[in-house]
This record gives sequence, C-alpha cells and structure tokens, in this order.
Amino acid sequence: MMGSRRLIVPAGVWEHDLPVAQPCTVCGEPGQLAYTTNEHDELTAPFCSLRHWAKAADDRVEITGEMKPISPYTQEAAFQDHQWNAICKRWPERGAKGISQTKNAEGHDVLLYRDERGRLLAALSRTQEGRLNVMVDPDHRGKGIGRALVRAAGRQWPIDLSVQTMTPAGIRLVNHINPRKPS
Ligand SMILES: [Zn+2]
Repeated sequence: MMGSRRLIVPAGVWEHDLPVAQPCTVCGEPGQLAYTTNEHDELTAPFCSLRHWAKAADDRVEITGEMKPISPYTQEAAFQDHQWNAICKRWPERGAKGISQTKNAEGHDVLLYRDERGRLLAALSRTQEGRLNVMVDPDHRGKGIGRALVRAAGRQWPIDLSVQTMTPAGIRLVNHINPRKPS
C-alpha cells in the first residue's frame, strides 16, 4: 500500500510514509520513511530521517583520484545568466518533479533537477570520461541544489576527482559530501 509522499527540497528526493515502522537502515531506531529519486520509483529501505538517508547515500558514493589545483582562470560563477537560459531552452519547460535522468544531444548522461512545480532549476551533465558539469539557475544558488545533483550522480557513477575541473564551489561541495577526502 502506498502512503503519502512529498518532494523534499532541495534534496530533490521524494519522501514516502511507510505503513509500518521498521528499523532505520542507519541507526536501527524505528523508521517510517522511504526515499526515492522519482515519485513513482519502487520503495527501498526504511529510514528514520532524511539525514540518515543522506548518510547512507553518501557512504555509497565512490570518490577516487586527487583534485587538481584550481586554475587562476576558474571563476567562482563559472557561467552567466544567459548561459543558464540557453541550458533551459534545451529541455522541456516542465517535467518530472525532483531529479530525473536523460541524455543530451552529445550523448552525455544528464540529471535534471526540477522543483515542486516541475520547473527546471539545475542540470548536471557527465561526459564519457566522467567529467561532471553542474549548472544551477542563478536565482537558486546556495540552496544545496548542486550538492543534491552531485549526490545523485554519485549514487549512479563513481566520481573521479582527477578528471574534474574544480571551482571553489565544486571543492566545497566535494568536501561536504566526502569530508574524509583531503582537499
Ligand atoms: Zn536512523
């Protein structure tokens, strides 16, 4: 039986109420919540909280390689508003709420982040070499949306830091997801 569900912003995941409490996958306390990327995905393990789901998800992220130093030409705001508008034009104006996966014209994997109205707020693309490019709507930066997308990418693919072009924001993000990695 499917209980009620809601989109958790900015994590980009759906939180489902389970009919009965079961031990949380992380702490073993009674948990009555399940989390899925897409609204209608099959429910998986029970959790007591979003925090513990995130912990379990982050523990599964495989991060390898060493970060390259930031080039002096790397800008904190790596792209401009008009470039975000160009990204938006590539994708349907409305779509599945939360994080959905697709491919772009170059054949790269893409994760799209949409809000509770289905509006596109961020996109992550991944090249065949594993280079990630995260773009967040300039009006919605600093909310953790980019982090949610990188987390979602990490659940799907290993992340090799040595092939990434890091920005200061990117480094903060990686350190947050995997604080055990030296920066
Ligand atoms: Zn727990």
